[in-house]
Amino acid sequence: MGQASRLAEACQAGRPGTTSKAIVREVRLTPVVTTIVECRTAVAAAKKAGQTVGFVPTMGALHEGHAALVRSAKAKTGYVVVSIFVNPTQFGPNEDFHRYPRTLESDRSLCAAAGADLIFAPTPAEMYPEFSVAVVDVPKFDEKLEGPSRPGHFRGVCTVVLKLFNIVIPDLAVFGQKDAQQARIIRQMVRDLNVPVTVQIDPTVREPDGLAMSSRNRYLSPEQRTAAPAIYRALAAIRERALGGEIDVARLESALAADLAAIPGARLDYARIVDADTLDALPRFDRPALAVVAVFLGSTRLIDNVLIP
Ligand code: AMP
Repeated sequence: MGQASRLAEACQAGRPGTTSKAIVREVRLTPVVTTIVECRTAVAAAKKAGQTVGFVPTMGALHEGHAALVRSAKAKTGYVVVSIFVNPTQFGPNEDFHRYPRTLESDRSLCAAAGADLIFAPTPAEMYPEFSVAVVDVPKFDEKLEGPSRPGHFRGVCTVVLKLFNIVIPDLAVFGQKDAQQARIIRQMVRDLNVPVTVQIDPTVREPDGLAMSSRNRYLSPEQRTAAPAIYRALAAIRERALGGEIDVARLESALAADLAAIPGARLDYARIVDADTLDALPRFDRPALAVVAVFLGSTRLIDNVLIP
């Protein structure tokens, strides 16, 4: 009997997987829970069974960048939880909260293929019952780069991430370098508030043409998608110049801004080269640096960064 007919037979019988383990893997989607109680119960059972817990917080519309984080968590922990929550409190009033892509079914397939064990996909009401007032601020780090363009964004991010940490109670949480400032702020929050979790930051996953993968790339028109890889080319060129011995940070910053402003249809929000640890201005390349940019292509705001060296 061929694999397709075995699969059909297994599905018809309502007992997928009774014929072959390979079939179980093909048909199984990652289970989804929507309440905090269900999530806590599932994680507690995994812990009771002796498993360590990995966690990847996301807003869904998952792509290969998210999948890499899940695989990375799964390589180090036994039971991996992915949260999918478009968090209203981290969007400004004129941002894309309502049109942010929501693709739970394909997210489930991607999570299953990457090895996730549970998806926690709460509603806003589950996460923020009436009269929720407590917030988490990480001052200083939230004031620069993204800060002025997105007031309140990091307060929303830190508040929801701490809540998710308190719900999942993971041993390991994996974030992407793609959101460099967010990653830095989460590390600070965990350190300052003694949150018992190990934070791991994984490299940015890119399309073959260099564009950083992002859920927002799907907003781009064909022309904008063609122009977008120039963002990474500009960052990579600056990195090369710095590694080649250019020590004048201000000159490199201006060159980066000029390269980005020259992208057809682009509007530069910021282009900075900062201390990779403090995110402060960097007078000289005498410590690890971060070249970090935000660019509008039409109404879509893209961010990217490279570490130097
Ligand atoms: P988001 O769903 O955009 O909130 O992102 C969820 C997590 O995935 C964050 O830790 C992001 O930094 C990370 N992430 C998003 N895009 C990428 C990418 N291209 N490569 C690696 N990590 C990413």
